Amino acid sequence: MINREEFDKKYTEIKENIEKAAILAGKHSDDIILLAATKTQDIETINYAIESGIKYIGENRVQEFTAKRDFYKPVHKHFIGHLQTNKVKDIIKDVELIHSVDSYHLASEISKQAQKNGLVSNILLEVNIGNEESKSGFLSHELNENLYKIAELPAICIKGLMAIPPVCETKDGNASYFEQMYKLFIDNSGKIKDNISMDILSMGMSDDYECAIKCGANLVRLGTALFGRRIYTNI
Ligand SMILES: *Cc1c(COP(=O)(O)O)cnc(C)c1O
Repeated sequence: MINREEFDKKYTEIKENIEKAAILAGKHSDDIILLAATKTQDIETINYAIESGIKYIGENRVQEFTAKRDFYKPVHKHFIGHLQTNKVKDIIKDVELIHSVDSYHLASEISKQAQKNGLVSNILLEVNIGNEESKSGFLSHELNENLYKIAELPAICIKGLMAIPPVCETKDGNASYFEQMYKLFIDNSGKIKDNISMDILSMGMSDDYECAIKCGANLVRLGTALFGRRIYTNI
């Protein structure tokens, strides 16, 4: 259930914050995609967000996405969570962008399933920028090699990079990770091939999206900041 007044207030504040951060980064707020991370949110809440102007949503569990996907109002649908290879076929037709491609093996399965469905799948490569054992993603030094290898796959288009830096106590504490990501993004932008276009740098969540934008993010993924603290149910 959504508290509409609360949502309106948070959403307005977030848009203002994004605009300010965008200006500091020498950009316009239209250059920044605000993606609502909708895990655990019910359909009524998500559709209210969409009616209010949210144009992008991201789910991060396959089962939850497939249960909800037929009920969203028109919106761009992304997948942002860890994706198991055997689940690719369940979502391939319905997601515009998969943020969380963390291995060549996963990318090749996405390409295979995309081909089967006559599609080209848009993906981001996830970078484990904090070098954390608990997180998936390519290590910075593995990125280049994998970028080219994945770009050879027939039904894949690499649209950019994504990262989830380490949990951090302060708002600007992840600036150095965001800066490293921006550098990787720029370094690889110069090497465009047919199916690599470094358009999207997906980083920044509720606690640090302003910092991420200042450091060069052009897509931020917000859950808590928009919807309040998540109450975990079994969906
Ligand atoms: C849940 C989630 C977010 C949003 O997290 P908040 O801290 O609630 O903003 C962003 N990215 C991914 C991959 C997520 O799973």
